[in-house]
Amino acid sequence: MIISTVGSHSALQILHGAKQEGLRTKVYCLKGKESLYRRYLVTKNIVSLDSYEDLLDVKPESDEIFIPHGTIIATLDEKALEIPIPIFGNRKGLLWEMKREKNLQLLQDAAIRTPKSMDYENINQPSIVKFPGAKGGEGYFLCSSKEEFERKISNLLNLGKISKKDVAEAQIQEYIVGVTMYPHYFYSIIYDRVEMLGIDRRYETNVDALGRISQEKMNINPSYKVVGNQPLIIRESLLPEILDYGDRLLESSKRLFSPGLIGPYCIELALTAEEMVAFEFTSRIVAGTSLYISGSPYSNFLFNEEMSMARRIAREIKMAMGQRRLEEFLT
Ligand code: AMP
Repeated sequence: MIISTVGSHSALQILHGAKQEGLRTKVYCLKGKESLYRRYLVTKNIVSLDSYEDLLDVKPESDEIFIPHGTIIATLDEKALEIPIPIFGNRKGLLWEMKREKNLQLLQDAAIRTPKSMDYENINQPSIVKFPGAKGGEGYFLCSSKEEFERKISNLLNLGKISKKDVAEAQIQEYIVGVTMYPHYFYSIIYDRVEMLGIDRRYETNVDALGRISQEKMNINPSYKVVGNQPLIIRESLLPEILDYGDRLLESSKRLFSPGLIGPYCIELALTAEEMVAFEFTSRIVAGTSLYISGSPYSNFLFNEEMSMARRIAREIKMAMGQRRLEEFLT
C-alpha cells in the first residue's frame, strides 16, 4: 500500500505517519519544493509537478491512496474532486467544505450555533466580511455599518483586490469576539466512534499581533492569514460539548452527504464566556494536527502510543485492509 499526498500543508506529518505504520509513501511536489521532503527523510518517492493542476493527470499506482489536505482545496477548488487517485475520505465532504452555504448548512443541521449571517443593508454590529475562495482568511475585513461596508468594498474594488462577483458572493457574519480553537476529530468506521485527538489555536497575522499596539490609534485592518499553530488544552468542563459537536456533525453529514464524514475533520470554533460558536468545518486533516506528531494529551487517553492524526489515518487503512473493508473508506 502506498500513501500519497501533495507536498505542502501537512504533508510532512502525513508521510511520517504512514511510514510509522510501515506503509510506502509518495509526494507530489511543485518543482523547486522537493528538497523539504528529502531533508526530513519522509519519502524517497517524489513526483515533480509544474502546477497543482497537473495532479489531475497523474497515473496512480494500483495500490495508491491519496490523503487530501487544505492545499488542494485552496488551489484546485472544485477540480480537487477530480483527482484521479482513490482518496481516503468522502469526496462529497470536500465539496460541502468548499461551498460556504453548504458549510454553514451542515453546522446548522447539526444544531451547532453559527454566527448570524446578514445582508449589507442591515449591518448593525461588528461584522466580518468573507469572500469566496479566501485562502486562510486573506482579504477579509471588519465593519460595523452599511456605510463602512460600502467604503471598504469600493476601496478593495479600486485596488483590484476583489471583483464584482466576489462582492455579490461575499458572506457577512456577526463577528464573534471569542477565543478561537480548532478540535481535531477522527471518525473511525472500524470502531464506529468519533475520536477527538487534539486541539490547536491558529496563530494568524496580523490579528494576533494587534493586542500589542493600540489598534484604534493606528487604524489597522486585521488580517487572518495563518502563519502557524499553537497547542491548546481546554477546561475539562468544556470537553463534553466539544465531543457532542463532533458527534452531531458526523450524524448530520451521514444524512446530508451519505456515507458522511470519514476519518479526519475539524470544527472551527470561537468561544465566548457564554457559548461555543462554529464558523466553519473542514472535512479532512487540518494543519494544526502537525503539532501532535508524538500524540496529544487527548490522543494519549485513547492510544498508549504516539498517535498523530496521520498515523491514525494509516492505522485505520491498515485495519480496513486486514478486514477487507477498504472500499468503505475510499472514494
Ligand atoms: P475562515 O476562513 O472561516 O476559516 O476564517 C479565517 C479566520 O477568520 C478564523 O480562523 C477566525 O480567526 C476569523 N473568523 C472567521 N469568522 C469569524 C467570525 N464570525 N467571528 C470572528 N472571527 C472569525
